[in-house]
Amino acid sequence: MYLKTLHLRQFRNYEAQDVAFDAPKTILVGNNAQGKSNLLEAVELLSTLKSHRVNRDRDLVLDNHAIAQITATLERDSGTLDLALTLRSQGRRTVAINGQSVKRHLDFLSILNVVQFSSLDLDLVRGSPAERRHWLDRLLIQLEPVYAYMLDQYNRVLRQRNALLKRGPMAGTTPEELAVWDAQLAVAGARVLRRRDRVIERLEPLARMWHQSISGSRETLNITYQPNIEPPSKQQQRWSRWPPEQVQQAFLTKISTRAIAERSQGLTLVGPHRDDVIFTINQTPARQYGSSGQQRTLVLALKLAELQLIESVIGEPPLLLLDDVLAELDPHRQNQLLQAISERFQTLITTTHLGAFDHQWLQQSQILMVEQGK
Ligand code: ATP
Ligand code: MG
Repeated sequence: MYLKTLHLRQFRNYEAQDVAFDAPKTILVGNNAQGKSNLLEAVELLSTLKSHRVNRDRDLVLDNHAIAQITATLERDSGTLDLALTLRSQGRRTVAINGQSVKRHLDFLSILNVVQFSSLDLDLVRGSPAERRHWLDRLLIQLEPVYAYMLDQYNRVLRQRNALLKRGPMAGTTPEELAVWDAQLAVAGARVLRRRDRVIERLEPLARMWHQSISGSRETLNITYQPNIEPPSKQQQRWSRWPPEQVQQAFLTKISTRAIAERSQGLTLVGPHRDDVIFTINQTPARQYGSSGQQRTLVLALKLAELQLIESVIGEPPLLLLDDVLAELDPHRQNQLLQAISERFQTLITTTHLGAFDHQWLQQSQILMVEQGK
């Protein structure tokens, strides 16, 4: 897929900006706080309807304005599409495809597929389990947009169940009332868990290959989805291989063992909202392992694996957004990245200085100077 144009109206620090992408690589160069990341964020929003930087739409609208608009022309194998997202400092956002308003936002997700790689992604290795869950969820939504709906459903059940637990037996929450939500949590939780495990299973061999190629070593990368429930048997650790009913039963079993703790804390302690993803290199957890350079290698391998996986599932190469990462990579890793993305993947890259790029990059690239939202 190829993003041909992008139009920003009162988005972040952009008053009005039209961009045409004329080369497979676009380098956005400029000083700090000029709007480079904001432009990538606009593309991310068109893809996932989420920004990894903020939750509130009002932060995305130019200060003292009511409405922001992001529109773009996208070329896919199936034809050309006009995408439009309108954000309001107060009120709901709206989306449209080819001028037609789209009621179910699910239908807008992943028409534009992107893989994002920023310096913040080191948190994937170093950060809390929540960072890894969000990463996995974002990837899953791209591969299978209906997952966004499953996740929503799970979170809804979770909120309801938490509210009941918080109210407690004194306020009349009966065990029967709670049991209804246990069952729903198990059903919705099993759906989320099995899909997350399945995507890890597909990503792992790709990431392992990239990791060996970038690090130039025989070290073995393993990625494991770690739920907080016990598998029905130790023989089969792959959650996606268990029928949904058995995974649901595993949830119910665990919930029953945590009942007292849940009541006293007024919180749901069992479920995919508390799961983690574990990266190990030669059996050693990567979080504790090695230098930040090694952790960066791991994240780079994950991102390249994501690109490959999305391409194979979608059948078209996704866009790559690189925010401030190139300067952090040594020449060997830069080169690996360059070769891996080749001509096939349209790439938008931000940087504060062009010195970080070699001749080959510059030759392939369109260079845009960014200054004060222009
Ligand atoms: P760096 O090199 O530091 O990463 P950058 O060019 O990527 O810089 P951005 O994050 O794209 O910078 O832009 C930040 C600028 O946008 C800041 O000056 C910030 O004040 C401004 N900004 C962010 N949100 C809004 C908004 N809603 N309205 C107006 N300006 C905004
Ligand atoms: Mg930035």
